[in-house]
Amino acid sequence: MPKTEITGYLSLGGNIEPREDYLRRAAAALDARPGLRVTRLSALYETAPWGGVPQADFLNMAAAVATTLTPEELLTACQETEALLGRDRARGERWGPREIDIDILLLGKLIRSAPELTIPHPRLTERAFVLVPLLEIAPGLKLPDGTPLTALTGRGAVRRYP
Ligand code: ATP
Ligand code: CA
Ligand code: CA
Repeated sequence: MPKTEITGYLSLGGNIEPREDYLRRAAAALDARPGLRVTRLSALYETAPWGGVPQADFLNMAAAVATTLTPEELLTACQETEALLGRDRARGERWGPREIDIDILLLGKLIRSAPELTIPHPRLTERAFVLVPLLEIAPGLKLPDGTPLTALTGRGAVRRYP
């Protein structure tokens, strides 16, 4: 029997130039993977860095995907795409500068909390730079507990880019 596709949402961001190139290449690389289609991309949004490490502004984007991958396989797809674009996890401090960061925000109605994979993403609800692009591509989206994303605002200033 063919596996059913589930809709998921990813957050892509980076603050090493060329930022836009990294985002576009990451979306294309994800779409090229078996069992994973990128169905929608948001506009680009620029935002000040989060987490207290002084560094350049981030460019962020949200992507909708349709996938037959398991959650673990989807995480692997995200991490291999980061590595493909040159992100070196051994080098970077957490929340420091990076070519590309790809986080899984939501995957169907799945709820899971393991340190290696927590869905919904644990900081989704507090980050305007995640919520604003996500609402652009999925205005009716709800968290697995039924909370509409429009009920959330998150923190931080986000501006359309360019
Ligand atoms: P933040 O999670 O606050 O956005 P970050 O993206 O900078 O921080 P990373 O260093 O990229 O953090 O990832 C740290 C770990 O988070 C990864 O090794 C991964 O296993 C784990 N992780 C847990 N939940 C998720 C998720 N929903 N999407 C991506 N990674 C996750
Ligand atoms: Ca992140
Ligand atoms: Ca990440």
